[in-house]
Amino acid sequence: MQLSRYNISLIRGDGIGPEQAAAAKKILETISDSSSTKFSIIEVDAGDGTLAKHGKALPESAVDIIKKSQACLKAPVGESAADVIIVLRRMFDLYANVRPARSYPNIPSLSNNVDLVIVRENTEDVYLGWEFNADETTVVALRVTSERASRRIAEYAFKMAMLRNGKREVVAVHKANVLRRGDGLFAATCKTIGSKFPKVQYSELYVDACSMKLIRNPEEFDVIVTTNLFGDILSDEASQVVGGLGMGPAANIGDQFALFEPVHGAAFDIAGKNAANPSSILLSAKMMLEWLADKYNDRNAAAEGKRIEDAIVGVLKKGGRTKDIGGKLSTTQFTKLVSKAMY
Ligand code: ATP
Repeated sequence: MQLSRYNISLIRGDGIGPEQAAAAKKILETISDSSSTKFSIIEVDAGDGTLAKHGKALPESAVDIIKKSQACLKAPVGESAADVIIVLRRMFDLYANVRPARSYPNIPSLSNNVDLVIVRENTEDVYLGWEFNADETTVVALRVTSERASRRIAEYAFKMAMLRNGKREVVAVHKANVLRRGDGLFAATCKTIGSKFPKVQYSELYVDACSMKLIRNPEEFDVIVTTNLFGDILSDEASQVVGGLGMGPAANIGDQFALFEPVHGAAFDIAGKNAANPSSILLSAKMMLEWLADKYNDRNAAAEGKRIEDAIVGVLKKGGRTKDIGGKLSTTQFTKLVSKAMY
């Protein structure tokens, strides 16, 4: 099916969430006004504020709107994040969490030549929340690893290595020397899937070695595939390597639906100050357009997505930066410059 108008559900979230959502809305409206790719944006309230008002962080009405949309763009949610994003990941079986980290111009960073992507398994591990008390002073948390989930995330990572303009390398990151059964299964499955992709070079790294290498030689990575908790931690590290959380987009991808969101949280310390870097959500919107382009066979959508990233690069090259990356621009000033640079 081909589309050129997309219904997008936009979760406003908490903390800097509403400011980030407003920036994304402005850029999607810029695209709607200036190109053949059109959006109908439906704003959705979910998170701490919604919990306080309606007794539920993710009410049925919000789920209904999300279900009717072609994709969801989500600003960060505060303390109730687990009741929103983890529920949505499970509800739509969004099994691949894709988190790119790329060097952009004029941003203080550890290396100027990074272009990597972390493909994080998104459905298992400790995120099932299976914790219980063994006795009054001891808690046991279950870490779940299945062959099925390992297989589909590995397949996703190898396909991505084939498609992206990178080195065609996949490194599976785990801790199989300690978690012999669970991570042993994950590593063995990645290796088996890798044998079906002879054009992609496959290797493995323990998570501790990977976290060191991300600081020392981040430019050497192409695609990292890893389990849920390790992926969560390594992707925050990777975004710091290239200039901070304000530059970190993410995608939660399933076979039928996808949700896009910044890597960072609600950043309450800067909320309401017009100080957040909107690049994280704007680059998430770019990933959303690429996904829509692929799903609906719509090349124009991919071109508009690239336009967002090119405009951010253009603004950065001219020295336009928010405070977190060494500049003085407010959220709205930066967003306006990006919008102007697009067409
Ligand atoms: P979570 O656990 O929900 O991911 P967190 O505790 O890691 O959240 P964040 O909300 O992600 O915390 O913020 C971490 C730091 O990064 C804060 O100092 C915050 O101000 C900064 N930060 C996060 N996002 C942005 C952004 N878009 N622009 C500028 N600074 C940001």
